[in-house]
Amino acid sequence: MDLSAKVADQSLKARATRVAAIAAAYADEVDKAGRFPGEAIDALKSERLMGIQIPVDCGGEGRSTSEIAELCTIIAQSCAASAMIFAMHQIKVSSLVSHGVDAGWHRTFMQKICTEQLLLGSATTEGGIGGNLRNSICAIEVDGDRCRLEKDATVISYGKHADAILITSRSHKDAPPTDQVMTAFLKDQYTLEQTHVWDTLGMRGTCSDGFLFKGEAPAEQILPKPFAEIAAQSMLASSHLLWSALWYGIAVDAFTKAQTFVRAAARKAPGTTPPGLVQLAEMSSQLQVIRSNIKAGLGNYEQALSDPDRLSSMGFAVAMNNVKIASSEMILPVIHQALRICGIMGYKNGTPFSLGRHLRDAHSAELMISNDRILGNTSTMLLVHKQETGLLG
Ligand SMILES: Cc1cc2nc3c(=O)[nH]c(=O)nc-3n(C[C@H](O)[C@H](O)[C@H](O)COP(=O)(O)OP(=O)(O)OC[C@H]3O[C@@H](n4cnc5c(N)ncnc54)[C@H](O)[C@@H]3O)c2cc1C
Repeated sequence: MDLSAKVADQSLKARATRVAAIAAAYADEVDKAGRFPGEAIDALKSERLMGIQIPVDCGGEGRSTSEIAELCTIIAQSCAASAMIFAMHQIKVSSLVSHGVDAGWHRTFMQKICTEQLLLGSATTEGGIGGNLRNSICAIEVDGDRCRLEKDATVISYGKHADAILITSRSHKDAPPTDQVMTAFLKDQYTLEQTHVWDTLGMRGTCSDGFLFKGEAPAEQILPKPFAEIAAQSMLASSHLLWSALWYGIAVDAFTKAQTFVRAAARKAPGTTPPGLVQLAEMSSQLQVIRSNIKAGLGNYEQALSDPDRLSSMGFAVAMNNVKIASSEMILPVIHQALRICGIMGYKNGTPFSLGRHLRDAHSAELMISNDRILGNTSTMLLVHKQETGLLG
């Protein structure tokens, strides 16, 4: 055996770092063309990262939300669109893990995700409802052991590239808008007729076009729990945490560029304080607040996972909403400050200090489920929920 041959490091961090290197090489091109980051997603698959959250007895690695959040942060430092695709896939997997392990079809599906490294998409947004995820207009039709669904899905990220789509609808044609279910449709069980083009300011590589979705599948593919439970117990928390993790990654990369810029200025003029140094300290403090907020949120979620009452409580929903609001708003001043430090080198595309993509991608954070809508939901809960006043407990 050749002892000098290096075995690739199989830690999660090393696997994600290899993906990040590939994502970085194509990030500007992906952004410019608004194209799917196929190279990064292929790398995720070849590092076998698509099924890591799935329990070991279903073929996965049983990795925690915190571990997955860390990978989102690593990849976002190279390409936020690739990190967002990974995050959205993992958010869909979290619903299967939390609510599908006892359902035969969904167990087999999870095994298939692991063996075939499938990419899952999400269709919650609907024409006429927008980001109000807890309401649907469309209704699934169950006819014997078959189900059919047609949805005006105005935003489906990487819809054309997904291997399956998890889609929300009313549970039947007479159900009220909030009586929803989520169904997993495989690629060969639906058609997508494109209705909207994703030509956006940022997050261009997510290719979040709009489609008229038409699907037909065995009715057992409907998740066995009401979507109200899925949203409260897995989807909202994992969305807010994983999104926040990747948004933090965008801000951290902006900071790193600014730090490199300031260090280079310090080397050029030894003995003087380079411009931007004090601002760098301020950015470091802001990043620490964002990081602490996300880490606390992840800890809160992981503790709540073993306590269904806490998971469904108002206090938990308020806390998760607050993580999203804070991280989506706080990353923007950090990136803006980095731009001021790097000046024209940050403003120009194609320099080692370019920050245009970071700034444009980061602006999606406040809109991805509108912060106004989330604040509206939180404010309703605050009519009855008591704000945390201490530091412990
Ligand atoms: C990068 C990216 C990828 C996405 N990928 C997907 C995907 O894969 N699948 C999917 O289903 N969706 C996806 N979305 C859509 C997303 O989840 C939201 O549905 C969408 O961002 C909401 O769009 P909207 O601005 O039309 O918001 P709406 O919720 O329709 O709101 C429109 C405006 O009304 C105001 N508003 C709404 N409600 C309130 C309120 N209660 N109080 C005060 N003001 C209010 C807000 O200011 C908001 O700007 C994606 C979005 C982004 C940015």
